[in-house]
Amino acid sequence: MARGPRALTGARTPRIALIAVLAVAGASPAPAIGDPLVPPPAYYRPIVAEGFTFPVARTNWLSVIELAKDWHAPRMRLIDGQWQQVGRHEGNDITAEKGTPVLSMTAGTVEAVGWTFYSGTRVGVRGTDGRYYFYAHLSAVAPGRAAGQSVRMGTVLGRVGNTGYGPPGHEDEFPPHLHVGIRDADWVNPYPLIRRLYKRSVRATLRAERRLAALARAGDEESFDRLAARLYADL
Ligand SMILES: [Zn+2]
Repeated sequence: MARGPRALTGARTPRIALIAVLAVAGASPAPAIGDPLVPPPAYYRPIVAEGFTFPVARTNWLSVIELAKDWHAPRMRLIDGQWQQVGRHEGNDITAEKGTPVLSMTAGTVEAVGWTFYSGTRVGVRGTDGRYYFYAHLSAVAPGRAAGQSVRMGTVLGRVGNTGYGPPGHEDEFPPHLHVGIRDADWVNPYPLIRRLYKRSVRATLRAERRLAALARAGDEESFDRLAARLYADL
């Protein structure tokens, strides 16, 4: 069976929370605590839709992901030592727990890694479609990510954080979230695509969780393990 992150595999509370969710969803009777056919807390393998993946890893134990319809919302900029409201938000913010894996939405080539004043730690990927995909405010860059490297759809680029709006390493000016920017000739509004990817991803994993619960009820360990291996991933 696929295992979640080592540090979290032994956690008790999230497992109980998941069972509660499945029970509410009509998948009851939920397996008893200690039953071998209970999924461990784990990240979902990225779901591909429309040739993209949702850029924040989803899990079966956290549900803090929130999308903001914030394209072109007013933004503060530091000008001559004073904060002024002159900028516009050229992307979409996805709220998530600090440390959550950030996934490349597309296959492509890493073009930029490192710090800028507003973005904090960021990774930029030139997608195979020619567009630039920009992931900002990261708490960490994934080991080995460097300019010129090829990445696949779903490759871990880094971790969600709240860096930026200051000198290198500066953080905590805002809650942790991923800023996603997509640039064609100019920045384009990524929100409609990101929203669709999120919905498709949630729908697919909920369907799989219901099938998994049915296999657990039937005691079909072999099929349960096979589906769990497809559904979950070590990220
Ligand atoms: Zn943003």
